Amino acid sequence: MRRRAEGPGAVAGPGPESPHAAPVPPTLETALAGLPKISQERLQGLGRLGLHTVADVLHHFPRRHEDQRERLSLAQLRPGATSTVEVTVAALRSRRARYRRMELLEAEVEDLSGRAEVIWFNQPHLRRILHEGDRVTLHGRVVRGTRGRPKLQNPEVERERRSEQQSKVGVLVPVYPETAHVTSRWLRAFIADHLTLADSAPETLPPEVREAEGLLPLGMALRQRHFPADQGELDRALERFGFEELFFPQLAALLSRRQRLARTGTRSPYDFAVAREFVASLPFRLTESQRRAAHEILIDLDRPSPMNRLLQGDVGSGKTVVAAMAARMAIAAGHQVVLMAPTEILARQHHQTLRELLSPFEIWPRLLVGSTRAAQRREILGGLATGGDKLVVGTHALIEDDVALPQLGLCIVDEQHRFGVAQRLRLRDKAAANPDFLSMTATPIPRSLSLTLYGDLDVSQIREMPPNRHPVTTRLVEPRDREDAYRFIRQQVSRGRQGFIICPLIDDAPGLEVRSATAEYERLSQEVLPDLRLVLLHGRLPAKEKAQRMAAFASGDFDLLVATSVIEVGVDVPNATVIGIEGADRFGLAQLHQFRGRVGRGEHLSFCLLFTDDEDPGGRARLRALIDHHDGFELAEIDLRLRGSGDPYGLRQHGFPEMRVGDLLDDGLRERARTAAERVLVRDPALDDPILRTGIRGYQVVFEFD
Ligand code: ADP
Ligand code: MG
Repeated sequence: MRRRAEGPGAVAGPGPESPHAAPVPPTLETALAGLPKISQERLQGLGRLGLHTVADVLHHFPRRHEDQRERLSLAQLRPGATSTVEVTVAALRSRRARYRRMELLEAEVEDLSGRAEVIWFNQPHLRRILHEGDRVTLHGRVVRGTRGRPKLQNPEVERERRSEQQSKVGVLVPVYPETAHVTSRWLRAFIADHLTLADSAPETLPPEVREAEGLLPLGMALRQRHFPADQGELDRALERFGFEELFFPQLAALLSRRQRLARTGTRSPYDFAVAREFVASLPFRLTESQRRAAHEILIDLDRPSPMNRLLQGDVGSGKTVVAAMAARMAIAAGHQVVLMAPTEILARQHHQTLRELLSPFEIWPRLLVGSTRAAQRREILGGLATGGDKLVVGTHALIEDDVALPQLGLCIVDEQHRFGVAQRLRLRDKAAANPDFLSMTATPIPRSLSLTLYGDLDVSQIREMPPNRHPVTTRLVEPRDREDAYRFIRQQVSRGRQGFIICPLIDDAPGLEVRSATAEYERLSQEVLPDLRLVLLHGRLPAKEKAQRMAAFASGDFDLLVATSVIEVGVDVPNATVIGIEGADRFGLAQLHQFRGRVGRGEHLSFCLLFTDDEDPGGRARLRALIDHHDGFELAEIDLRLRGSGDPYGLRQHGFPEMRVGDLLDDGLRERARTAAERVLVRDPALDDPILRTGIRGYQVVFEFD
């Protein structure tokens, strides 16, 4: 995780107003802009990497270290390995891939031992920085090229000779995340020059914790993280930072949990007769995991302290029924219930479902969304303020100031990761007492992640599908098979079924050869499938229009819905049996799985067609995983491993600090950090230690604590 110097305007070096003052030696807080000899372009590049002070750069960790002893000659390359070579670029040419969009850059490289081919996919910037005759270091995967010669595929490029720097940095050379004007070479030199400052960095772990766990002090850890003498030193540095990364979120979660359990909330007694009656009213039998999840929730509702539970279940696993049962129980106890969803389409759908499920009990949910008309809104707010209305479904419109929910006892939040803590708190503050919270998500979160990131939540999982569901048959559609795919869609429609086409964009964008929903809608309805009834749906349509089109499609007025990712979550049209995804390689695995979950919701066999013209093997691997696997949790684990790093689940967007996926997957280290956090809370229950307070501050956006 990266720690920044406090405040935006960190202290600069000597300013222009004191041209004659002796230069002040930089400190950790010194702004890079105040240092001599950093060009404007480089400052911008540093800014793009999020680096503004000397301390930021010292916390800009290498992506990997390269063992100089493992550099190979071209003659030594073997397909299947990942290798590093130092070569001269002998020839270079770029061309368009067979299938429109992709740009390929091909090179012929040589060293004293021979020649090899190199290919880069879709990296147009390389065209500008690479020239024939350049000496470069390449690091990447070796595949079999023409006539069995080794070929480097998408290697990282460094325009320098490593050996020149070798004496300075030892055998393990750090390789950093780079950007234009900020190369690894520059970073290595800058960091080496400022490394003595590492020891003045304020320690971020309490000394007791560090000593009990045998972890390196911060300064030493920083130095070894960049320039380790050997693998052992690097491992010790990684251990220290990995521990810290797992320690603070767990500490914050434990604190949040403890504070919650100490609060008094509302109680909805577990009334077995009410539960039985609800189950008996359903048109189907609950699955075993639905039963178990419902039971866990009802037990929580019966407790005096506020519930904070996450209901996780793959798309179509039947979470809404379970949520309806919880709502039924809370209402039977005299409480009000809200269900908040991230989009109006989802809110409308939940409203409809709850109305059907709860009508036998004379419970009539209200719907409050952005497009609700003023007069009706007034009426709904009135019913809620008096407590006459017990159940309301809606969007963010529910948390507006004039919405009063005096008897609120249960908040159900769909796709909870789309809302922040602030929005939850606003909902909570509408209640007289602390309401229970039930969050639902169809985004499968691998256990390894959820233990750390959702540590303050109790989790109920639905891991089985309702009976008679068949896995959705998933296929790649190459450009040459496009006509067959349309024939197949037409055939499904002729059998009375419906389908979706998903496109990555709303409109055609200049320079992007991606199919857009608007253009595809025109093309399909005029040229390809003129005999079918098509409807277009995208995020720029007014909410009301979206809802109407969606409803018309759901009731069978249209055969094919052409849409952007607005239909990603929740949309439930059991008669839809085919979904075609354009530019499938542009979407993440989790999102593709969500799209696929739009079909296979009824009794008919369903199909997912992945349109792709991507030749990049990485993209292919992702699509192949989708073809071979149908369990969302498994796919989430695969996704995590395929990425290896970066930001799974857009965590940063939701306020999490940067994390290394590798650390999140380390069960042993997580356990250690967890135990240490528990011990700390015993010693310092109010968390008065300023070091600890600082450490958990970054998590205030995701966990609730005072
Ligand atoms: P989720 O919200 O988890 O994606 P839903 O609650 O929308 O799933 O349920 C998907 C569909 O399955 C709905 O049409 C629902 O009526 C149906 N369903 C739910 N539980 C069962 C069950 N136990 N048996 C048969 N059908 C079910
Ligand atoms: Mg749902």
